[in-house]
Amino acid sequence: MAKVKRSDRLITLRCSVCKRRNYYTNKNKKQVERKIEYQKFCNWCRVKTLHKEGRISGK
Ligand SMILES: [Zn+2]
Repeated sequence: MAKVKRSDRLITLRCSVCKRRNYYTNKNKKQVERKIEYQKFCNWCRVKTLHKEGRISGK
């Protein structure tokens, strides 16, 4: 039922240390202006690291 709106963009959150994509999230119109950055736990680094917005390639 819940469709993803066109204004929403699916993005990845990439660990700034190992560069792996650990999280997927939607970025809506209101958030587009600024880059998303979160402190999140990285399964690969085994610590909390800064995760930065990244594009999903191929889609
Ligand atoms: Zn990492």
